[in-house]
Amino acid sequence: SVRVRFAPSPTGYMHVGNARTALFNYLFARHHNGTFILRIEDTDVERHSEDAVNVIYDALKWMGLDWDEGPLKGGDFGPYRQSKRMDIYQKYIEILKEKGLVYECFCTKEELDKMRQEQLKRGLPPKYSGKCRHLTDEEREKLKKEGRKPVLRFKVPQDRTVIWKDLVKGAISIGADQLGGDFVIVRSNGMPVYNFVVVIDDALMEITHVIRGEDHISNTPKQILLYEAFGFKVPEFAHLPMILGEDRSKLSKRHGSTSVAEFKEKGYLPEAFTNFIALLGWYPKDGKEILSRDELIERFDIKDVNSSPAIFNFEKLNWMNREYIKAYDISKLTELIIPYLEKAGFDIEKFDRKWLEKVVEVTRDYLTVLSDAPTYMETFLKDEFEIEKDAAEFMDEDRLNVVEKFLEKVESLDEIDGDIFKKIVKETGKELKVKGKNLFMPIRVGLTGKMKGVELDILVSLLGKDRVIKRLHHAIS
Ligand code: GLU
Repeated sequence: SVRVRFAPSPTGYMHVGNARTALFNYLFARHHNGTFILRIEDTDVERHSEDAVNVIYDALKWMGLDWDEGPLKGGDFGPYRQSKRMDIYQKYIEILKEKGLVYECFCTKEELDKMRQEQLKRGLPPKYSGKCRHLTDEEREKLKKEGRKPVLRFKVPQDRTVIWKDLVKGAISIGADQLGGDFVIVRSNGMPVYNFVVVIDDALMEITHVIRGEDHISNTPKQILLYEAFGFKVPEFAHLPMILGEDRSKLSKRHGSTSVAEFKEKGYLPEAFTNFIALLGWYPKDGKEILSRDELIERFDIKDVNSSPAIFNFEKLNWMNREYIKAYDISKLTELIIPYLEKAGFDIEKFDRKWLEKVVEVTRDYLTVLSDAPTYMETFLKDEFEIEKDAAEFMDEDRLNVVEKFLEKVESLDEIDGDIFKKIVKETGKELKVKGKNLFMPIRVGLTGKMKGVELDILVSLLGKDRVIKRLHHAIS
């Protein structure tokens, strides 16, 4: 059965590219009733704080990508953090040593630089010459006594072409002589490197499909050689296309937000964000773009992933978010909006929850992201508003009269709703012989302090009589 993994390094930052890799692995696993594994690649121990690991958990949880095996969850193939697997790696390093497939290399940085320069002079790409392959035992001992700390290099077989049929990119073949020579699998400080540990982990975790960004294509032949060296079964590979900005350069800060945390903070709905990310390099055959989680899972086919770059279109994401906001469950939407209102300084406790939901209902069509909510909802929440400059200038004695007349009428009511509002506005106009802008605008200013905004009948029916009176008094005082 299908077993896939998302294997991020905790950098403190979950880029949209990582989010897409995680999502495609998840969709592939769910589509095939397989297993979605999370593995944290934290061998670079010093650099990796717990906070950085939490960034990954938070992003995955927010996107609803629940993993079946991994940290916090467990599973039969753990541990799922590379920093806890060092003894396993050690064992497999010994196996390669016994097989005579690795050797110690004592070359200094200067020597390696010189080699690189010589290659460049000849117009060739950098390549390790294999110099230390042929050291005798005595030479090795001597270098160690000098205090040199060796790296361990893997003997790349010569006259070999590594071939795999990539599920996205098609057939790829790379000559073993193109790999830069015998590559390092253990650093001089004893730390095994990515290309080595990833193979051990993927093999031992019985990963069937490696789905990851195309920036890893150059690593794949090295990894395949290691699979072969151990006699492990080579998994299938699928390398996902790059994500570019609309100017076709690599997506970066320059284009806008690029981390999952930023999108969350701005108030993209997780469902909208995930839906949008799913369309970065993949497109459902039936062309339907707004897709629920189940619809994504049902339609997702790795063979339909495009091999050419995906363009990250912020406008499309915004459109999609608006669509999701319009259709979202009102109670859940309110729940998500409340923190934005609180952050903007509104004391949400004092409002009835059902009432708040009604406010969300009448304003949601204006929102692109949830952080827009305070701007559009303020007029419902704040009775002690400032009269804006243009509104203050607009008001003169006649117009003030309109507000006063209207206030009198409201005070004589039992309760107010949209229809009653329209009725008493009309009466006010008739009695004072004003209409149009001279009638409506003073009332708007009296109720909101602004010259434009939401439909007043909606506002008034949500405010109720007491708050309407309070506002009108506030405005004319
Ligand atoms: N830790 C690697 C990364 O974040 C994983 C690459 C892989 O999936 O093999 O790029």
